[in-house]
Amino acid sequence: MGASEEEEKFPFDINPMYEGERVRKSGLYVELGGQSKPGFELVLFEPEPEKIKDGEVSLIGPDLADMEEGGKYAYGMIYRVYGEQIEKDLEAVIERRNHEYQSYIQGYMHLNQRAEIWVRISKDAVKKGLKSLKQIGRATIMLFKEELPFIERMEATFITDEAEVEKRLEETNEIYKARDEKTRGLHDEDVDEFYQCTLCQSFAPTNVCVVTPDRIALCGAMSWFDSRAAARVDPEGPNAPIPKGDCIDPIGGEYTGVNEAAVRLSSGEYDSIKIHSFLEKPHTSCGCFEVAGFYIPEVEGIGWVHRGSKVSETPIGLPFSTIAGSVGGGKQVQGFLGIGIQYFYSSKFIQYDGGWRRVVWMASDLKERVADAISDEMKDKIATEKDVKDIEELREFLKRVDHPVVKGVIREVDGEQITEGWAVKEEAAEVEAKAEAVPVAEAVPSTAQVPLASVPTMAPGAVAGGGTPIQIILKDADISIGKIIVKRKEGK
Ligand code: SF4
Repeated sequence: MGASEEEEKFPFDINPMYEGERVRKSGLYVELGGQSKPGFELVLFEPEPEKIKDGEVSLIGPDLADMEEGGKYAYGMIYRVYGEQIEKDLEAVIERRNHEYQSYIQGYMHLNQRAEIWVRISKDAVKKGLKSLKQIGRATIMLFKEELPFIERMEATFITDEAEVEKRLEETNEIYKARDEKTRGLHDEDVDEFYQCTLCQSFAPTNVCVVTPDRIALCGAMSWFDSRAAARVDPEGPNAPIPKGDCIDPIGGEYTGVNEAAVRLSSGEYDSIKIHSFLEKPHTSCGCFEVAGFYIPEVEGIGWVHRGSKVSETPIGLPFSTIAGSVGGGKQVQGFLGIGIQYFYSSKFIQYDGGWRRVVWMASDLKERVADAISDEMKDKIATEKDVKDIEELREFLKRVDHPVVKGVIREVDGEQITEGWAVKEEAAEVEAKAEAVPVAEAVPSTAQVPLASVPTMAPGAVAGGGTPIQIILKDADISIGKIIVKRKEGK
């Protein structure tokens, strides 16, 4: 990146190589947003250019110099943009880039998106002369305008006053909600193109994000409409269209065009993706997913926990952070999946694996948050940490509520039974074990068969008279014997 005149004025280095830089506790000056303070980022399109004071950054609340070292503060970032090519659908796309551009600033760590943002500023950056969040704002605007030339005017309002952040966050959540609801009436089969997103390939090179009407981006920041708006202004850019091609599997959501894109975007690492599958050829997951799903083989069901959940442990004994470590990295990991929260509202939500009928556990704060997405049939059948602590308790819970995984999941979309049911399998195994424990004389009453069943090829003592007799039951066996030689044992 060439150093512009304005860039020279900043007391920090700006370079894409700082993307991924972490500010650890030991080097922390302040933390903004994150788990303990409210935060958000928002881009708003302003159709009247004269209403934007281009390049201006205002701040509501304490600035860096007024903050205590090691302190945690609320943080809201609102950008207003104008450009002839900009339409409202581009708001979310521009907003998603805030993470990328702010990550270019040395000593400034920006993670996550929307109302999950987590920012840390290092002591080193402050020592080098970073005095004000306004400097961060001006650098961000400069980067936006350099990288996205369709932005003609841009101003920013940063807020650190906690009450004000909370107030604005309520309005912001409504804006996020309206954006998310926009795609609910549109389905994958209604469009000819999906959209890729390669923004996260900078840290997860094989990640293949495919955004469709029925599957919002796993970071939750971009819907199909948003991606389309991005592709319109930059058709060759990171959100380029993916022609769907032919549908190979309508339930799993597998398309020839997506498979071709998978090969191209992952440099050959993956050749097929089922967009609505959890266990077979799942969508890849970079590190930005809002929710992590994990398969629990003992109950043949799926659990979900989200970033920022107050729940510290899942029934598999792992917290979100550990599960996230297994999911991320741009990999297609069978048994784990990263999704955006809005995907719970999709009518195709993991439909290949049985949709909601396959969900056995959710963190209680997540279950409450998406309560209206859960089918009526399943609302009371999904456990949370308040119901169960471990797998054993989970099994008992699922039996008690007669969860579909217990006796076998019938996939709603096509009526196919896709699992046998672990309780059914266990009962069958018990019956079999009991049958095997029945004395051979009862089970095989034919006198002609008994000697055969006791042929002592493996256990001579069984017929030779020494030691404890051993019963060998042969079921469904075809035995042909050419000759039997019976010899008396010496000394008998
Ligand atoms: S998670 Fe996917 S959609 Fe979201 S920014 Fe990263 S690559 Fe793009």
